[in-house]
Amino acid sequence: MDTSTKLVVLYVEDNVDNRVLVRRILEADGFAVIEACSGPEAFEKLKTQTPDLILMDINLPEIDGYTLTTAIKTKITPETPIIALTANVMKGDREKTLQAGCDGYIQKPIDVDALPNQVRSFLRSKTKE
Ligand code: MN
Repeated sequence: MDTSTKLVVLYVEDNVDNRVLVRRILEADGFAVIEACSGPEAFEKLKTQTPDLILMDINLPEIDGYTLTTAIKTKITPETPIIALTANVMKGDREKTLQAGCDGYIQKPIDVDALPNQVRSFLRSKTKE
């Protein structure tokens, strides 16, 4: 995988169908995609790779996405934007993701046409800071 010039997205997601879908959408748009299916796997990937952005499922086995986000932000890579990608759309869920340290929130179901620009908008707001 040539990640030298492409923007790299780490997608943390336990559902294989979502991983396949997001990889397909983002790669077709010129991104490089790294996958992790759990918190421990995400930590493992982050030892050797520095993504430009992390897409974070919230309902994960072992370590949920809130806890994982807080751990990544405080202990590993505070600068990397983390965007929650979740079906949790109850009142208060968005606030919970932001409190955990997420920089943004994308609601499932995934909008195939909108996702690349949604991701790009979070990368732009990062570079403006
Ligand atoms: Mn999940």
